[in-house]
Amino acid sequence: MTSFADDPCRGGLLPLETALARILAAIDPLDADEWLDLRPAIGRVLARDVHAPVDLPAFTNAAMDGYAVITAGLTPGTPLTVVGHALAGKPFTGMLRPGQCVRIFTGAAVPRGADAVVMQEAVRRDGNQIHLQHPPQPGENIRPAGGDIRKGERVLRRGERLTAARLGLLAALGIPAVQVFQRPQVAYFSSGDELTPLGTPLAPGRIYDSNRYSLHGLLHSLPVAPVDLGRQPDDLERLAACLAQAGEQFDVVISTGGASVGEADLLRRALTRVGELHLWRLAVKPGKPLIFGRIRRAWYFGLPGNPVSVHVTFTQIVRPALWHLAGGRSFRPLRLRLPCRNRLHKSPGRLEFQRGRLIPGVDGHWQVEGLAGQGSHQLATLAKANCYIVLPAESSGAAPGDVVEVEPFETWSTDD
Ligand code: AMP
Ligand code: MG
Repeated sequence: MTSFADDPCRGGLLPLETALARILAAIDPLDADEWLDLRPAIGRVLARDVHAPVDLPAFTNAAMDGYAVITAGLTPGTPLTVVGHALAGKPFTGMLRPGQCVRIFTGAAVPRGADAVVMQEAVRRDGNQIHLQHPPQPGENIRPAGGDIRKGERVLRRGERLTAARLGLLAALGIPAVQVFQRPQVAYFSSGDELTPLGTPLAPGRIYDSNRYSLHGLLHSLPVAPVDLGRQPDDLERLAACLAQAGEQFDVVISTGGASVGEADLLRRALTRVGELHLWRLAVKPGKPLIFGRIRRAWYFGLPGNPVSVHVTFTQIVRPALWHLAGGRSFRPLRLRLPCRNRLHKSPGRLEFQRGRLIPGVDGHWQVEGLAGQGSHQLATLAKANCYIVLPAESSGAAPGDVVEVEPFETWSTDD
């Protein structure tokens, strides 16, 4: 018997990393850029490196409320005379001389001559004079000009995402607008005769179309412009026409459903009519029947219909592909190795993304718990989960206390 480790295609199924590498190699990033003000640029990908036009801090300033002093030549026991005030935005304009100090507040420019700020708690004030409890060190409680960033230094790189901190940094440097990549136009639709739009009562055997809402949410956090194309029936002609039209208008087309083997394997057939099939079927659970191809100017991702498979294939394949297309630098999902609290069941064969919850253990260290209800239709489990537990293809599960790999969904989560 050949072991799965010896068979790179795992019985015709592509390992996730092979499929992703091929997809990323096929896709060239879209290269068009645009200027945006900072606020609308949140979440977008920088199209140019950004260099600091100024030092940050721009001037040497106090890190504490206290007194600006000259450290050289201080005699223990000799008081200093307070000769003025320095506040944030209201500097002391004079020059400090030996024997003098200036009352200073956080963020105020350190007066010329001064080389330390003694925090107010370490000072005894007596009228217009202060007594220092300890001799201060040069540079104490001072934020030097250029100490964070030097003028001319590269602060952000092309291909980086504009996060809240990066927007703040650009603003701190006085940069009001940035050059970012234009967003890929991403169209998506769902397929299936059973799908019913929200607001309509369900006929027997029908279900609500939830995948388009999942996709809306998944696309929302990416630097792409999503377009919802609605639902399509299980009809080869209609699907081929929809793909052909979308393939002319958009950069990416995503469908859900009709991707597996058998009667309803319509998307792969529709794709081969109007475009090219590049790869199909992953050694991943859930998410095996993923399709990747090209339709005219668009890249095409045919996701499985099962709601949890949509999330798994989107986060593991579509998201990195869209990020790459949008000009983003290569990235990897955050993965941690943590002890598992309960037994996890798995058959060797495919890489598996089980739904779990990260929870603090009694010792305060994080642990993960596999949730009940691991079916690929079980959206309720996914909605409760805050991470995937990533079990390698050859794994046959885990016992309580085993260390497993975890991919968090967010950096915070409610406790229960
Ligand atoms: P399929 O890949 O088309 O065979 O669909 C697999 C399973 O996913 C079936 O139970 C479908 O009813 C379900 N499904 C397909 N599309 C959707 C959708 N848009 N929303 C919710 N469930 C879906
Ligand atoms: Mg279907």
